[in-house]
Amino acid sequence: MVKCDACGKTILFGGVKGAADGRPLRFCSNTCRENWQVSATLGQFPPEAVEKYVAEFHAGTCPRCQGPGPVDAHPAHSVVSLLIVTRWKTESRLSCRACGTKHQATALASSLLFGWWGFPWGLIMTPVQVTRTAAALFKKPDPAQPSAQGRGMMQTVMVRQWHAYRQAQAPSQSQTAGQPPAAS
Ligand SMILES: [Zn+2]
Ligand SMILES: [Zn+2]
Repeated sequence: MVKCDACGKTILFGGVKGAADGRPLRFCSNTCRENWQVSATLGQFPPEAVEKYVAEFHAGTCPRCQGPGPVDAHPAHSVVSLLIVTRWKTESRLSCRACGTKHQATALASSLLFGWWGFPWGLIMTPVQVTRTAAALFKKPDPAQPSAQGRGMMQTVMVRQWHAYRQAQAPSQSQTAGQPPAAS
């Protein structure tokens, strides 16, 4: 049995390969691979530097509208159906609350319009996603500190920026398997 090196889930088919210090690694998904790489890289920074980065990100201007913060993660849950196909997703963005509300309102409206038209998942998932987004919409962010999800996303941004910086510094250096995929 092969287990994911990030979340411990048993990998049934394929998985994503990686390596660190010559040791092979297996992950159940690209998300797990990236999470593992982020936490491995984060461990190399002094904790104060990570805290400072997160605090400044939280108190800084919104990366979407350049308006005033606080900046946090605002999840929007949506669903779209077409006959037997229903797809649902959760998309979280780091932004000010106004931008988060706009994104969530769009997810809510599009789910109510396009979520229902699939059987059976459209009928099941539309109320679920609409309720989740409505709950997120009314949840007041803590002005003193970012949510756990917001903190995690900010740390991911920090690691990506660091990798981008390092790659810019040493363009001839060959890619090692421990590096994260290009930012999507
Ligand atoms: Zn996993
Ligand atoms: Zn904004």
